[in-house]
Amino acid sequence: MRDDYRILLVEQNPPSSARLRNWLHRQKYRVLSAATGKEALEKIRKETLDLVLWNRSTGDSNGLELAQILRRQRGGTRLPIIMLRPRGKQDREGIETEVDDFILRPLRFEEVGVRIRTILKKRKEYSGLQQANLRLKKANGRLKKILAFDAKTQLYNYRYFSERVEEEFKRAERYDNFLSCIILDLDRFKGINDRFGHLEGDRVLRTFAAILLENARETDFVARYGGEEFAIILVQTDGPQAKILAERIREATEKFSFLPSRRNARLTVSAGIATFPSNSRIHSSTELVKAADTALFRAKEAGRNRTHLDRSSETAKIRKTNMTTEQIKRRRKTIPS
Ligand code: GH3
Ligand code: MG
Ligand code: MG
Repeated sequence: MRDDYRILLVEQNPPSSARLRNWLHRQKYRVLSAATGKEALEKIRKETLDLVLWNRSTGDSNGLELAQILRRQRGGTRLPIIMLRPRGKQDREGIETEVDDFILRPLRFEEVGVRIRTILKKRKEYSGLQQANLRLKKANGRLKKILAFDAKTQLYNYRYFSERVEEEFKRAERYDNFLSCIILDLDRFKGINDRFGHLEGDRVLRTFAAILLENARETDFVARYGGEEFAIILVQTDGPQAKILAERIREATEKFSFLPSRRNARLTVSAGIATFPSNSRIHSSTELVKAADTALFRAKEAGRNRTHLDRSSETAKIRKTNMTTEQIKRRRKTIPS
């Protein structure tokens, strides 16, 4: 088993310890050698190592520098360093703080064996922990994705939408930017299910999701709000601009043959749009979505296959504020980033 472990033996004045090398071999460690600091660094970079054993001689130059370089090089790999040094010689340079352990010469191999085994065991545990951490991070990333996306359409789901719209609202408030919300609802979708079945209905939902993504900008975020309802959040976009996008989607939907083999199966969509801060009654993300929903209701009421921009969201100019600079500063302080 020991064959698996690779030890770099750094000795600046060889052959200072043929006995040590032979002993390590007998313990079935793989031993690599370096006679200079430069060589040691090269090996650390190129080879897979488990431990550096630095057999320090009295004549070694720049001991502290070498220790520091070795320590820096091992970087994230946490390659441990054990220094072997003569007994009785005080460490005035602080080298011992740069290494993980030190053993005094003359060496007792029994002690060397124990120290090496202990440090290798610790390293194994540490790297096991690191790997577990990495796996956990990856799993967390996957979980986040699963939690944020709607499985049917691959759009963001309601849960993510709610969090994100709240964040974007705070940002828009803080920087006095426009924030628009479009809620879209497929018209008489129940009829599609009734006539062609639920699976076909699902396919239509996926195709519609693709139309949304095709027409939205990269900075917009598109979500499945629920059932056959969808939402788009448009940052730094005023009401009239948002309406242009909604109209584009409406037209594309009307023209698209969702069910090619069934000629008279056309699908249309209605949309409601609201914008902060144009509509001064909107004070939260919930109110923004609610205003868009009310606008959607108007579009449905007016006969479907149309887009309705909430009346108060029509202004294209950013709201003029009567607040003094001091008041704005104070208000900004109270808004979490
Ligand atoms: P309106 O124009 O008023 O919106 O009419 P509608 O028929 O679209 O609205 P209604 O709320 O009456 O029906 C919505 C339908 O959407 C009913 C439901 O079966 C269907 N639906 C919701 N989620 C899904 C889904 O994931 N897959 C399928 N195939 N259908 C769904
Ligand atoms: Mg609906
Ligand atoms: Mg509907």
